[in-house]
Amino acid sequence: MMDRHGVPAHPNNFIIWYAFVADRDPELTKAINGVLRAGQKFSDDVCADLYERFFGTSQHEAELRAVGQRIENAVAQVLAYLSTANQGAAQYGEALVSFSGELNRDPAPNDLGDLIRGILDETKSMIEVNRQLEERLENSSGEIARLREDLDQLKREATTDALTGLANRKLFDVALREAALEGEEDRSFLSLLMIDIDFFKQFNDSHGHMLGDQVLKLVARTIQDSVKGKDTAARYGGEEFAVILPGTRLIEAIAVADTIRRNVASRKVLNRRTNQVLGQVTLSIGVAEYEFGESLGAFVHRADEALYMAKREGRNRVISQTELRGTQALDFEP
Ligand code: GH3
Ligand code: MG
Ligand code: MG
Repeated sequence: MMDRHGVPAHPNNFIIWYAFVADRDPELTKAINGVLRAGQKFSDDVCADLYERFFGTSQHEAELRAVGQRIENAVAQVLAYLSTANQGAAQYGEALVSFSGELNRDPAPNDLGDLIRGILDETKSMIEVNRQLEERLENSSGEIARLREDLDQLKREATTDALTGLANRKLFDVALREAALEGEEDRSFLSLLMIDIDFFKQFNDSHGHMLGDQVLKLVARTIQDSVKGKDTAARYGGEEFAVILPGTRLIEAIAVADTIRRNVASRKVLNRRTNQVLGQVTLSIGVAEYEFGESLGAFVHRADEALYMAKREGRNRVISQTELRGTQALDFEP
């Protein structure tokens, strides 16, 4: 199959196509079928992109392992330096003991000069050993500082969506839990937006996945630009986004949602290469406000229900939980 579609025989491509044929991940299957249907070529870029999107975490694990290995090396190095320094100190100690033994034996004044020269030599070499140790430990501490930066970087990457730069789902879950705890503690408002791009499959099908990804970036940027300090904008799933709004009541959250909706809808999506106008992208958004004591599942579900109502009512709109009243959604119990 890979041969038939002109996919280069690269190890990562085997991973992708093995998973595709085994139908491991419906999203991957959709993505590849999308490329096939659009008649796109499996260029190196397309393949690298697929790998990054669906197997990017294994890349991340490899990096983590590499940093782990470097930490082990740095620690082993420091231990080796310390052991050398230890040997030097032991040797010096022995030299001092033998020196004091000689002194106790009342050496002839002529021999005294030799003895002192001997101990001076030992002292000089001890100073040299210490100087080297200091230098090496300084190098090691530099390496350890670099390792710490790399680890911080990896930690950031582990919680960031690679395509859009927004918080990923993992960070969203953590941030939502924290926001709810804080809300309970301070008795402050907390609202949530669930955002889904309208007819995105259609967009991918007519313009290809690569342009689809550009749209995801554009939407992500617009969302990020519409929120402020304490808010968390996250990529929730493929073409779904979520925004956590601490200290924000429903009515304010609806206003934020509508700003996001209008900002996206007002932009014309261009194919940068051909300057062709690809049309308008719109969003449907569901808004919910946290109720003290409820489960996070129920909270997210309410925002989701509002989102689906926005879809049903015609898309490109914001629906909040108040409009759900009287519908089935309010009966939901986690
Ligand atoms: P609706 O208005 O009901 O939301 O219609 P839709 O087509 O947006 O919804 P559906 O869930 O059927 O399709 C979502 C599509 O989003 C499927 C997939 O092609 C696309 N998609 C998901 N993740 C990505 C991605 O990372 N990149 C690209 N380019 N497309 C993606
Ligand atoms: Mg969707
Ligand atoms: Mg959609």
